[in-house]
Parts: sequence; C-alpha cells; structure tokens
Amino acid sequence: MDDTIKINEELERAKRELAILYEISNAMRTTLKLEEILYIILTGVTAHTGLSFNRAILFLINEKDNLVEGKMAIGPENGEEANRIWTKIETEKTTLDDLINAYKFSNSTLGSGFNQVIRHFKIPLKEPEGGLLALCALDSMPLHITRQTLTNHPNDPVLRLLKAEEVAIVPLKAKDKVNGIIVADNFITKKEITKDDLHMLIMLANQAGLAIENSQLYEKTVVRTHQDSLTNLWNHGYFQFLLQEELEKAKASKTPLSLVALDIDDFKVYNDTFGHQAGDKILKDMAALLRSYSRQMDSVCRYGGEEFMVILPQTNKEEAYLIAERLRQAIEKHPFTHEEIMPHQKLTVSVGLSAFPEDGAIPSQLLHYSDKTLYQAKRNGKNNTCKLIFFNEEDN
Ligand code: GH3
Ligand code: MG
Ligand code: MG
Repeated sequence: MDDTIKINEELERAKRELAILYEISNAMRTTLKLEEILYIILTGVTAHTGLSFNRAILFLINEKDNLVEGKMAIGPENGEEANRIWTKIETEKTTLDDLINAYKFSNSTLGSGFNQVIRHFKIPLKEPEGGLLALCALDSMPLHITRQTLTNHPNDPVLRLLKAEEVAIVPLKAKDKVNGIIVADNFITKKEITKDDLHMLIMLANQAGLAIENSQLYEKTVVRTHQDSLTNLWNHGYFQFLLQEELEKAKASKTPLSLVALDIDDFKVYNDTFGHQAGDKILKDMAALLRSYSRQMDSVCRYGGEEFMVILPQTNKEEAYLIAERLRQAIEKHPFTHEEIMPHQKLTVSVGLSAFPEDGAIPSQLLHYSDKTLYQAKRNGKNNTCKLIFFNEEDN
C-alpha cells in the first residue's frame, strides 16, 4: 500500500515536471529575440509554477574574447522584496505565461541593481581565474555547491558576487558546445537544493542552450541583412524602418528626436582623381569615424552613395546641432588619405538637420527638412551644419 502511494506520488511529480518543461520550451519557441529567450529561461527557473528557485542568473560564453559574461538575473534582492513579489504572484494566481507576457517588454523586473551588477560581470574562461563558472563551462559539467563544500571555494568570484551558501551551476549546451551557464539558488528561503531540483535544471538547460544558439544565429542574420556591405552601417531600407520606429517611440514617450544628414563635399573630385575603389575606402573610414563619434543609442546609416544619416533618439534640435557639429569637425580634422587634392585640401562634409516635433511628425517630413537644410549648408559654402530653412529659399 505504502509503495503504491509512493509510486503514485512519484508519477504525479514526474507529470508536473514534464508539464513545466513543456510549458517553458513552448514559450521559448514563441520568440527568437535573445533578450526574450533569456527572460523566459530565467522565469522558468524562478517562477513558483516553474522550477521555483529563489534566484537565477544567466551567463553567456563570449568565444571571441574567451570570457564568461553576465547577461541577466531574476530574483528579489532581499526578503522584503521577495515577500512582496511572491505574495502578489500568489494572490493574482500568476501563471508562467502571465509572467512571460508581462515582460514583452516592460523591463520592470530587470531594472534592479542586482541585474545591473550581473550585466557588468565578466570573468576569463580559464582556470583558476574563472573559478567555478569556468570549471562548469570548460568541463561541461553541472556543479552543486552545498554548505559543506562551500568552504573549498573561499575566493570564488561568482560565489562572492552572489553571497551564496548553496548553489547550482549548470552548463547550457548547443550540440556539444557550452554556450552559457545558469546559476540558481534559494538565498531567501534557504531551501535545500534537491537531486530532483538539479535534475530539472539540467533538463531545462539542455533546451535553453539550443534556444539561445538559434536566437544568436537569427540575430546575426538579421543584422547582416540590414547592414550595408561596404561600410557595415545600417542600409537604406533599415534606416527607413528605424526612423519610423524611433519616431513612434518618441511620440509615445513624448521625447524629441533628431535626424542628421551628411553629404561628402566635392566627392566627385576625389573619385575622378583616384578612382572608385579609393573613394570606397574613404566611405569606409568615414563610416567608422561617424560610428565612433556617435552615442550607443544613435543609429548611423548609409542613406545612399556618399550620404549618411544619423538618427538621434531623445535629442532635441539644439543638442543635435552640437552633436552634428562634433561629427563635422571630427571629419574635418581626420587625416584622410590624399585629401590634399580636394578644393580646400581637406575632405569635409556638409550637414543638414531636422527634429521632431518642430520640423515634422512623420518620416517624410523630417527627411524633407534635413534634405533642405543640407542643401542650404552646401549653398553656404560647404563644410558647415545648417539647422533652419529660410523660407524664402525653400522652393529653390
Ligand atoms: P557636393 O559637394 O555638391 O556634394 O559635390 P559631390 O561631388 O560630392 O556631388 P554629389 O553629392 O552629387 O556626389 C556624388 C558623387 O559621389 C558621385 C560619385 O563620384 C560619388 N559616389 C557616390 N556613391 C559612391 C560610392 O558608392 N562609391 C564611391 N567611390 N563614390 C561614390
Ligand atoms: Mg550626394
Ligand atoms: Mg557630395
């Protein structure tokens, strides 16, 4: 009789576990965006209706630089916060699906200080510097650090970072390669990590590794198809998409947006003297320069031949003017190959400028305005930035 009860209990548990894994892997199939995949994985690890660890952190392997890098963390920072979140989930009967949908894309859970710390965490993918994370990745082996074995790793970077007492460290694999690591623990409840917990985490990790690889491949392809092959800047088509999208965001958040248009001065002279290939090299150098003088949030695009566009979100016209001038001056100062043959012995650009809301509220109006101001900058003698159309000249 006892045996039957036990077997039934085990069957029930196995059924529950399978249902959870099924739900998480289904959720992972709903998106190819890496950020969303990572969030789904960590939600699966931490949700009450998932594996119900208190806290989970995801690291990815950066093969190029041979590093393990923190990407995302989910979990309360202290008992008080845990109480608040868990009570809310309990009373609202939040399901795994609800939690995942709430994310797409509120980001509210990820603003935490802990998540920020994790995002800046990097460690060499080698031993002994990389500690347990490197060990887990290099040996492709799950680790369970208990209160007893904790003392064997007194200075381990990840244990110190988490102030963990007991922790599971599990590799994520795509085919036979480790591409990430999940670290999970119960630092609030202090609940022991059981063999079953570990087993579930390993099964989830196998699915997760594949989902991450797919998403990384997808993101690479997306980037490539939207890039201009000469300069690696965003191409014309993607520029149109970005402008539309950034404009919508600006309207929704009631923030300004500016658009900077740049055109190389007398570029025909350079091409006619040194040929198209030498001209292309200039375009490449110019693209690199524009990117290095722009901010992370700006989108630098190749609009056409030797014309570039920079979309500046959350930037009003006065700020954009300063940025545009900074770009123009950086180009003026840069020693381009053989620029001494140019009419003013320097390779320079003329710059036009438009801003939402004052110059327009749709892409075509902003493009029109930046085109007009660029034209005016050319008429003003080139190598300058123009931010206003003078009305009597608009029809020129
Ligand atoms: P302006 O100061 O008025 O801009 O004079 P410009 O000579 O630069 O004239 P325009 O802006 O009309 O530039 C067109 C020239 O730019 C024609 C061509 O020689 C060059 N050009 C356009 N696209 C490319 C490109 O993809 N590669 C190279 N090497 N040159 C290009
Ligand atoms: Mg041109
Ligand atoms: Mg030109």
